[in-house]
Amino acid sequence: MLKGRDRDRAIIQRLDDWEKSGARFPGPIDQQLRLLRLYIEAQPRIGTPKPHLARDAVSALLMQGKTILAFDDLKLDWSLLEELFRASIRIVVVELPGSHENSQRLNQLAANTPLLRQVARDYYNGTPLSSTATEHCIDTTLMEACTSAALAPFLAAHSEALSELVAQELWRRKACPLCASAADLAFLEKEQGARWLICSRCSMEWLFQRIQCPYCGTQKHESLAYRTNSQGLYRLYTCEECHGYIKAIDLRKAGTEVLLPLERILTVDMDRQAKEAGYRPGHKTVS
Ligand SMILES: [Zn+2]
Ligand SMILES: [Zn+2]
Repeated sequence: MLKGRDRDRAIIQRLDDWEKSGARFPGPIDQQLRLLRLYIEAQPRIGTPKPHLARDAVSALLMQGKTILAFDDLKLDWSLLEELFRASIRIVVVELPGSHENSQRLNQLAANTPLLRQVARDYYNGTPLSSTATEHCIDTTLMEACTSAALAPFLAAHSEALSELVAQELWRRKACPLCASAADLAFLEKEQGARWLICSRCSMEWLFQRIQCPYCGTQKHESLAYRTNSQGLYRLYTCEECHGYIKAIDLRKAGTEVLLPLERILTVDMDRQAKEAGYRPGHKTVS
């Protein structure tokens, strides 16, 4: 499986090929693909931040069950963050009634650095954005989508810098060891088939039990199940306790060309199947 810059280059190549061939995707997928391009193209401009903790300090926190990256530890370039926020407005605000007003107010938010800082902090800390959105007459979902898109490349850069300091054996928890968010994708590694979770927010990867719900934590065998597609490449893990689901890719069944950030977007049919069967994307229901 390609990783890091090689993977990013392969994704951009794939996106360019699709664009040249005139490939058309349904609106929501197209939007996600454009956000992915924005995210990848921002990465070289952010670089790799110097870790704020040494390996021992990271291990000490993990042993206490504490996550290692607080909002104030993030090294954020606010002018680039503002630029990314504005770029994401152009992608996520589609031509619907009220879109002009929403765009205008989101751009005002982008220009108001103290407010943007507050919104970014709230988003990162899991504080609902709804009251700030209401106060500024902005649709909450749009505000959250732009904040998430603008912060994502910074969070991924921190995750890349810190991930090698995380001793995987010290952390088998549901939340991301870095940012405390939940996973929205998993993969089974090629060698032993161990299950790794991928953070929905910072893209950190961490090892997790095969038989445990990554959302409510139940280990009851009778509550946990998965179904696979005909090639066995994709798995949909479901939980009867919390009715959450997570998509997974079995790398033992995949070639080297699997690009997980693209898979996350293109496997929408699995999301549809899961929702039709009464399950919810687990990362959206846990804090
Ligand atoms: Zn994370
Ligand atoms: Zn569960």
